[in-house]
Amino acid sequence: MLNTDFTQLIDGERVGSDRSLDVINPATERVFARCPAATQAQLDQAVAAARRAFETWRRTSYEERAAVLKRVAEMLRQHQGALAELLTREQGKPLSQARDEIGRAFSQSEGMTRIAIPVETLADDAERRIELHYVPLGVVGIITPWNAPINLAAGPLTSALYTGNTVVLKPSPYTPLSTLKLGELVRDIVPRGVLNVLAGGDELGQWMTEHPGIDKISFTGSVATGKKVMASAAGNLKRLTLELGGNDPAIVLDDVDVTAIAPRLYFAAFVNSGQVCMAIKRIYAHERIYDALCDALAVEARKAIIGDGLDPATQLGPIQNRKQYERVVGILEDTIRSGARIVAGGEVPDRAGYFVAPTIVAGLADDSRLVKEEQFGPILPVLKFTDIEDALRRANDTRYGLSGSVWSSDVERASAIAARLEVGTAWVNQHRVTSAVVPFGGAKESGLGRQYSALGLKGYMEPRVVSVLK
Ligand code: NAD
Repeated sequence: MLNTDFTQLIDGERVGSDRSLDVINPATERVFARCPAATQAQLDQAVAAARRAFETWRRTSYEERAAVLKRVAEMLRQHQGALAELLTREQGKPLSQARDEIGRAFSQSEGMTRIAIPVETLADDAERRIELHYVPLGVVGIITPWNAPINLAAGPLTSALYTGNTVVLKPSPYTPLSTLKLGELVRDIVPRGVLNVLAGGDELGQWMTEHPGIDKISFTGSVATGKKVMASAAGNLKRLTLELGGNDPAIVLDDVDVTAIAPRLYFAAFVNSGQVCMAIKRIYAHERIYDALCDALAVEARKAIIGDGLDPATQLGPIQNRKQYERVVGILEDTIRSGARIVAGGEVPDRAGYFVAPTIVAGLADDSRLVKEEQFGPILPVLKFTDIEDALRRANDTRYGLSGSVWSSDVERASAIAARLEVGTAWVNQHRVTSAVVPFGGAKESGLGRQYSALGLKGYMEPRVVSVLK
């Protein structure tokens, strides 16, 4: 067991609980730490503290809040190594990817706090002046998933605090430790009550979405849970930002340099063992380059070093939890039964830990589970197309709409195709590239609202018109 006392953060105090959560290292399947789990009374205390703190925090300037967030980012930077190690232990991802995740968290946070949200003048004539102000909402409840706990907390946290709201943050019960640690690290930086961090199971998430003292929920997780959040947030008409699942297509045209792009496609599909909302989850490859691309992806998959993320040599860690592991293995078995061609991988290594070999699948039917569902694991279907209209139709034939990409040596041709993908973000010759100043979020059932950028920040604010008769 890890010899660290993890605590929650409520009203500036480190708080335990008489309930606890066991945390499993997915590379060993062993419980390696225990942390407190919040009671409903503790949620009430955290919300009350956040409401009190809101009265002062809302009146601070953007500059003052940016200065606090800059110190938070510096604290993360200082503790990047230790936090990354903790993140790898609880999440499973290779240490280098855990470091990257924390790096993204502080760089995105610094980028966002440079965005100005000025008062907009809508009219100013002899008769009237009409202004559009943006004011904070109040208390924001942030609920995060287990695939990138620090990065997916940092975006909403920065957005909420920078725009003058206060926060109650809840990580996934599978990966609570790095977020609790973050709360402990920033305890003396963020004023009392402005940020509260609670750990707990799914029920804590539900209590938050139903809580009358919370004004907005920023939720990142699955589509199914996102729908429940939306339903239970109706009580006091909470504002919502929902960042949900994806089934991202990558369309590869006939003119690509297969050898050059295969490693990049592979990385965008298999980073964090495919457990990334915007990972490539389906490839549609033109028939002319289809076999060559399958083979080139298979080369990448075969050379991947699988193992415990704490081993510096590891490139592919385990699946994060047993439930997801069993789901991915179920999809793999279904794929093998279907008679599709397993070009690489296909095995479940005989060792402790939730490992699945990186798998490339060819010749699969469009209605198979691997194509239809969000696999969220290291198995990638490569599907063949002849006609680009057919590829677009199949790529768009999904309830998901997070992101997608088109790959070609003709950038103009690819851009025209990308613009027809029914997604929140369509990339050309790249995938999974985000920035603090570019809105990110899902079309269709992949979400509601956007994170990052001025557009994302305004999702944490209420527009208020001030109309003056002169
Ligand atoms: P999940 O929906 O099971 O859980 C997410 C969070 O919601 C957890 O903290 C959980 O405890 C909480 N929760 C569970 N039930 C709840 C309820 N009824 N009310 C309120 N909260 C509740 O998701 P997961 O399995 O942890 O994460 C994987 C999913 O997240 C994938 O679908 C992935 O694509 C998605 N995701 C989306 C993005 C994005 O930016 N669009 C980013 C990362 C992950």
